[in-house]
Amino acid sequence: MSTKTKVFGNLLVDVIKKERCVGCGACAASCPVKSITFENGIPKLVGLCISCGICYNSCPRSMFDETVVESKIFGRNRIEKEAELGIVKSQYAVKTTQEDVGRSCQDGGAVTSTLIKFVSESERCAVVAAIDENMIWQPKPFVAKNRAELVKAAGSKYTSCPILVGVDSAISEYKLKEIAVVGMPCQIRALRRIETEEVANSRLSDAVNLKIGLFCMETFDYEDLIKFLESEGVEVSKITKFAITRGQFIAYQGEKKVFEVKLSKLKKLVRACCEECKDFTSEFADISVGNVGSPDGWSTVLVRTEQGESALMTARDAGLIEVKRLEEVGGVIEEVLKLAKLKKNKN
Ligand SMILES: Cc1cc2nc3c(=O)[nH]c(=O)nc-3n(C[C@H](O)[C@H](O)[C@H](O)COP(=O)(O)OP(=O)(O)OC[C@H]3O[C@@H](n4cnc5c(N)ncnc54)[C@H](O)[C@@H]3O)c2cc1C
Ligand code: SF4
Ligand code: SF4
Ligand code: SF4
Repeated sequence: MSTKTKVFGNLLVDVIKKERCVGCGACAASCPVKSITFENGIPKLVGLCISCGICYNSCPRSMFDETVVESKIFGRNRIEKEAELGIVKSQYAVKTTQEDVGRSCQDGGAVTSTLIKFVSESERCAVVAAIDENMIWQPKPFVAKNRAELVKAAGSKYTSCPILVGVDSAISEYKLKEIAVVGMPCQIRALRRIETEEVANSRLSDAVNLKIGLFCMETFDYEDLIKFLESEGVEVSKITKFAITRGQFIAYQGEKKVFEVKLSKLKKLVRACCEECKDFTSEFADISVGNVGSPDGWSTVLVRTEQGESALMTARDAGLIEVKRLEEVGGVIEEVLKLAKLKKNKN
């Protein structure tokens, strides 16, 4: 029985027009004839389509068979007690030992420090989310090749950017051969779909050898968030850090807290695509990182694969991070479990 190849038109109908597109950039990065671009966070067909079906097959929202992908990546499926967090080899509390990272990072600096070690070898880079210099707090995919660029791109941006477009540019423009990617759970799913599909752009999956996923409950629509903050009198261009802690959304200017609001008051700003998402801890990443579960100033790190363990321990052995058992610093894995469960039940 032959099934008709699904192309960009099908993505438009099944995903984009239904506001299910997460804006990961997998379709644009994968198109072999570069016919897809992004306009205002939405993929658009701008050239000839050769009906290869690769964009449809790369999208984490057109289809994502968790059971199949999981067994291909981890060699088995999760058992009942792993239902909420997925397959985890080990869990740690991690803190950077580096002053420059400590000043710029969101929590414990686990992500930036691990990446600093990763890019210290030649022909390597990390695709991260930097701030677009022409916009206020708008993230853009950025190919970081050294420590200074990683430190500059540290910190959480609570809106989304098409991170996979950065992977394409690391390969095509910078000719880099080994790539680490930081992404939200949905973006990590896109990378894993590309890695495990038969008809996909293997150029992308072959080059990405470390996937660091962040914990994520939701992201905000960029325009709506900026408008909201301005309406509350916040001078967004002066904000140096945003944070979400214990149910509060907080804005800082240097050390000073200049705005704070209950997260529940921002529900209207959450992107429609996040409403169907059940993955809190980036269940398909090599390493997943968040703040919940650890004390302030530490990152909670869930290691899922050999690559993840190796990247983290190489950074530790280089003296870039302290790695402790969660309990040693008063961390509580049940807090992570609670939020992971909440997300699965609520969406
Ligand atoms: C939208 C969003 C929602 C989050 N929600 C939660 C939550 O509910 N609970 C929780 O415990 N943790 C959450 N986190 C994770 C948390 O904010 C920290 O990113 C995490 O603890 C890592 O801290 P760190 O100090 O190790 O990271 P850092 O060393 O500061 O590095 C962070 C890395 O993430 C990249 N990055 C930042 N924003 C984005 C983005 N939008 N897309 C892709 N990459 C990005 C940066 O470029 C940098 O490389 C969220 C993060 C984001 C971006
Ligand atoms: S050429 Fe292939 S990847 Fe590009 S838009 Fe058409 S179906 Fe999608
Ligand atoms: S691949 Fe990503 S950006 Fe493209 S349609 Fe699917 S979710 Fe949207
Ligand atoms: S809630 Fe889900 S869809 Fe939304 S940004 Fe987070 S991982 Fe992506």
